[in-house]
Amino acid sequence: MKIYDISLPISPELPVWPGDPQVVLEKVSSMDAGAHDNVSRLACGVHVGTHVDAPHHFLNDHRTVESLSLDILVGPACVVQIPEDVAVIDAQVLDHAAILPGTERLLLKTRNSNHWKRGENGFDTGFVGVSADGAEWLVQHDLKLVGIDYLSVAPYHQSIPTHRALLTAGIVIIEGLDLSAVAPGTYSLYCLPLKLVGSDGAPARTILVG
Ligand SMILES: [Zn+2]
Repeated sequence: MKIYDISLPISPELPVWPGDPQVVLEKVSSMDAGAHDNVSRLACGVHVGTHVDAPHHFLNDHRTVESLSLDILVGPACVVQIPEDVAVIDAQVLDHAAILPGTERLLLKTRNSNHWKRGENGFDTGFVGVSADGAEWLVQHDLKLVGIDYLSVAPYHQSIPTHRALLTAGIVIIEGLDLSAVAPGTYSLYCLPLKLVGSDGAPARTILVG
């Protein structure tokens, strides 16, 4: 049994969605400066690094992140490899992906994971995302959770339809996974978003065990 940490390291070097706040992690008390302890302060957007989206993010329906069910966030998950030449994950791509019947939690490993492997710091607007009809496919196949290895589940210029379709169906979205070290297969997923009251998303330490 092995534990795979599929979370991104949160630091000021981590790319953030254009326009979102940058990560600030600063000492408010520093032993190097003579204080008796070290205490840091974190400021960032809630969609930083590996994180979940709550329905409130795109539906404005007050279903906020602390209400997401741990029964969905923890459990068996299928990691599938999307071919590296795929730029958009649509229904046809999902038809041909090796998704085991009965899968409820699906993690999409795409060429996006190469960014994290290479340690790239710039935001890439050409990342691979799920199209609107791909999102419909996921709804029709009764998925409960979908994860992807870049900072949005939807293609850069088409955020709204994919998010709305998934969140309306109650599908939990995990974004910003690093799946570079994970082979396709079935694992136990543990995704634990911070219990931020009233938030549209939250960073989530996320691991696979398998
Ligand atoms: Zn998000």
